[in-house]
Amino acid sequence: MDFENHNKIKSRLVASIDQTQCCGMKSYCTPLGKCPTGAFVWSSVANSSEKGIISIDEEKCNGCGICAQTCACGIIKMIETPL
Ligand code: SF4
Ligand code: SF4
Repeated sequence: MDFENHNKIKSRLVASIDQTQCCGMKSYCTPLGKCPTGAFVWSSVANSSEKGIISIDEEKCNGCGICAQTCACGIIKMIETPL
């Protein structure tokens, strides 16, 4: 059996963020605005224009890895998820 191709069919890469390590500060968030699919989203906390949280929509994520490569703190990982 061709295990490599078998695994590609059964799973895909998506970005996953460690919320406990993310400051959420908008002006410091280097991946913000770089996601090609709109999966990487900043949301305000308590109507602040600066303090927020980052969320990643797995359904929209195409696994390109840009956010993981550009996160200043290196807290975004690309993980395999079942299809
Ligand atoms: S650069 Fe990384 S750690 Fe900083 S706010 Fe953005 S996602 Fe969070
Ligand atoms: S891996 Fe690519 S598509 Fe997915 S959230 Fe990051 S930048 Fe967006």
